[in-house]
Amino acid sequence: MYCEKCHVVTEYDVCPDCGRRHLREPKPDDECLVTILDTMFGEMLADLLREHQIPFRRRSSLGAALATYLGASFERQYFYVPYERYEEACDLTNAFFSINGPVDIDDLEAFEEPDPDMIESEDEE
Ligand SMILES: [Zn+2]
Repeated sequence: MYCEKCHVVTEYDVCPDCGRRHLREPKPDDECLVTILDTMFGEMLADLLREHQIPFRRRSSLGAALATYLGASFERQYFYVPYERYEEACDLTNAFFSINGPVDIDDLEAFEEPDPDMIESEDEE
């Protein structure tokens, strides 16, 4: 099932993040949240996804000004891929972290949908 609000894919009918009910089936081009990483790992994963030619969108949890103010270590990068590539991207991400050390999404504090005003988008092929 797929939450349109959080872009989260789940096996349940209820979104684990926002609690929204009556989720729908994902469509192939739905943007799905794969993982949330800090800047350093984000760059590494971005390279990996490009290498495997998986289209993805990356959003920063902080605006540029705030990231500069707080420092890059406070930044979180949200990775989204189309649902048709979602499993592939998850496999890559899991393999990536089995090499680089485990990071669980639940371990990252502040797992919240970023404020739309704060989002900086970049389209990447
Ligand atoms: Zn949700």
